[in-house]
Amino acid sequence: MYDFNEVAMTDPAVAEAISKEIGRQNSNIELIASENFVSKAVMAAMGSPLTNKYAEGYPGHRYYGGCVHVDVVEDLARERAKKLFGCEYVNVQPHSGAQANMAVFFAILNPGDTVMGMNLNHGGHLSHGSKANLSGKYFNVVPYGVNDDGVIDYEEVRRIALECRPKLIVCGASAYPRAIDFKKFRDIADEAGAYLMADIAHIAGLVAGGQHMSPIPYAHVTTTTTHKTLRGPRGGMIMSSNEMNEKFKFDKAVFPGIQGGPLMHVIAGKAVCLKEALDPSFAEYAKQIVANASALANRLMEHGFKLCSGGTDNHLMLLDLRGTGITGKAAEELLNQVNITCNKNAIVNDPEKPSVTSGVRLGTAAATTRGLKEEDMILVADAIAMTLKDPEGSRDKAAAIVKSITDKYPLY
Ligand SMILES: *Cc1c(COP(=O)(O)O)cnc(C)c1O
Repeated sequence: MYDFNEVAMTDPAVAEAISKEIGRQNSNIELIASENFVSKAVMAAMGSPLTNKYAEGYPGHRYYGGCVHVDVVEDLARERAKKLFGCEYVNVQPHSGAQANMAVFFAILNPGDTVMGMNLNHGGHLSHGSKANLSGKYFNVVPYGVNDDGVIDYEEVRRIALECRPKLIVCGASAYPRAIDFKKFRDIADEAGAYLMADIAHIAGLVAGGQHMSPIPYAHVTTTTTHKTLRGPRGGMIMSSNEMNEKFKFDKAVFPGIQGGPLMHVIAGKAVCLKEALDPSFAEYAKQIVANASALANRLMEHGFKLCSGGTDNHLMLLDLRGTGITGKAAEELLNQVNITCNKNAIVNDPEKPSVTSGVRLGTAAATTRGLKEEDMILVADAIAMTLKDPEGSRDKAAAIVKSITDKYPLY
């Protein structure tokens, strides 16, 4: 159904921008830790006529007629998610990860309730209680973070929890390079009388592929995106036990609580992505993501760069640029000039403001989808190192390394 020429015939201006974006994706090495490249099947599902259908409600209980086929699609997505993650209940309708989190907050909390979430500057997500987000405005948020080594200090989390007695503890992060111990979080939640929500937006693919501990046996409720390491369409999901769902009615929290009609074309993309993730080859993919991250991290450290927490257990790492004379913002721009895409990122005790920062976040999910292996990641690390150490002198050489890799692994 996806025919690029149709866009060009109707709207040349948009078609040109899309075309250039395809070119950019082809010619750049994508190291933004939250991005990935979906399969053509996932993309085709998203570009299908399912976008035309209104389907407020849930399979078998819709507020509109003609939902028989989209019901099949949503049921397939739900059953596959349950099988993949081993959960009893799932909601595949959240339009994004932030929407999934908002629905859980809406279901479990009342305005003013106390919530613990990971500090945004320590790797947490805006939707876990940032003042700039609805979660931070409507709830009493008590943050926790990492210690001076860049690692979550569970004893400190416990101390804060026993002091503030939150109704909900949120764990999960956007920029945390280490494994998260969901069992420890659950023990703390139990001791403090709190519910535990795990947000696996970043690591869902690693959990699905057996490369990270699953939160499902420990968290009362788990949220995720589907578009990061899980490699599906842009969207969110909520997972829990039947018992938790009966108590908090997550379906109602999503619709009509915070959303209107579900994006059935995106849910079709989720169903396809979940089928792909159930294939044994996905576990190989997840393993390669972690191996690639490890290769990239080790080589960068060999080049003398400092990584927050001293390395990585997952798909991402944080370069600590303090003392190098280069800010996160400058590094992002310099790397962009040699076609390496990444994002500046605040680090703990960052002396720079959030729009500048002293860190860069690098992730390997997208590059791994493209086909890069450990030996390629070593070359990517070399290109990064020479660009940040000698921007003028090595620009051409770094760009040539990038081109050799993007030529070796063409995209689309
Ligand atoms: C990316 C992310 C989200 C939000 O996902 P969106 O789809 O951008 O709304 C939520 N939580 C965490 C931990 C994330 O990393």
